[in-house]
Amino acid sequence: MPETETLTGARELIDDLVGDRAAEWDRAGLIPDDVLRTLATRGLLCAGVPDTFGGLGTSSAANGEFTAYVGSRCSSLRSVMTSQGMAAWTIQRLGSPRQHAEYLPQLAGGKLAAVAFSEAEAGSDLSAMTTTIEPDGDTVTVRGQKVWTTAAHYADMIVVVGRYGSGAAAVVVPASAPGVTVSRVPQPSGCRAAGHADVRLDDVRLPASAVLGGGQPLMLLVTTALAYGRISVAWGCVGILRACLDAAREHARTRKQFGKPLAGHQLVGRHLANLLTAEQIATRVCEHASRCWDDGSPEMVVATVLAKQVGALQAAQGAAAAVQVLGSAAAHEGHVVERAYRDAKLMELIEGSTEICQLILADHAVSMPG
Ligand code: FAD
Repeated sequence: MPETETLTGARELIDDLVGDRAAEWDRAGLIPDDVLRTLATRGLLCAGVPDTFGGLGTSSAANGEFTAYVGSRCSSLRSVMTSQGMAAWTIQRLGSPRQHAEYLPQLAGGKLAAVAFSEAEAGSDLSAMTTTIEPDGDTVTVRGQKVWTTAAHYADMIVVVGRYGSGAAAVVVPASAPGVTVSRVPQPSGCRAAGHADVRLDDVRLPASAVLGGGQPLMLLVTTALAYGRISVAWGCVGILRACLDAAREHARTRKQFGKPLAGHQLVGRHLANLLTAEQIATRVCEHASRCWDDGSPEMVVATVLAKQVGALQAAQGAAAAVQVLGSAAAHEGHVVERAYRDAKLMELIEGSTEICQLILADHAVSMPG
């Protein structure tokens, strides 16, 4: 199917489904099931899944622009989309042809998924992970406690990363399997409807066929899975910036103080200029990273970290500038800019915090040919 056709009508569907309800979902901490199922059934939560597996086969560039659109409407929904796409990508990269045929059509056809790496003592340092996936004949037993798993509250299946012999693996765990307990993270500060949950795995017995990429080095496996999360979050940050720019521009044009629109005051104009700059910078680095994905370029990993780093920093600063332009109007709980301010800050913590991205980029800078 031509690229332009795969996402035809997708933005209109988002407009219909989200409408002006993002603040209500944020307050309730919940996205209605029918919204998630409608998008999941149409393959829109993981649009990059190839059409051979029932997906839309969308390029990274087109999926990125769609992710930004969703992010501009509702960061919680975009977070669920990031988790679903990351689960599909992990299965695509680590799974066998039989596993692709089993899981990818489910993800492109209505099932919901999450990805669990983090543990209480393994946040930035995932090498401290203690969850185990223990082989036993044609079964495996999964034991551990994951934290902060985005979308786990909604998920039918959770891709859990753990130690496997002397290496690592991911394993596809049905959320309904005996021994799985999913507990909501109470009142997160942002992306409140993204279904963040802690996942406890007490002797969860699964067929060995659920194991993906068994025996790989842990950090290689984690980097593979996180690459999708990072590009998706980066595009989500572009969406946050676009929402903030729209709201700040509209407010600055219409609100008058000292006898003229706020936009006529140069110090307010500076905030608008900074926001526009932030949105353009974030968009350009995301476009570059997506081009690397679509071309299969060896630069893809670094370009993706760069996109996530720039996107998250610009979104956090841009959302703060938008709050400043709106003044007390943005101090109302649930205002688009107020939500953006809370959501954007979290983007600096996840998928490799600002500092962890800086460490990766510093290593790259040092190793570049001089
Ligand atoms: P820590 O690792 O304790 O770090 C605290 C601070 O110290 C950070 O600023 C960090 O940058 C800094 N720091 C740590 N080490 C260094 C260093 N070597 N040098 C410099 N600074 C350092 N996890 C999942 O597995 N799946 C998910 O879907 C998921 N979704 C999430 C969604 C949200 C909203 C949040 C808040 C978290 C989510 N997480 C998820 C967990 C997330 O990946 C971790 O929070 C993140 O990796 C940071 O770990 P931490 O919170 O334990 O912070």
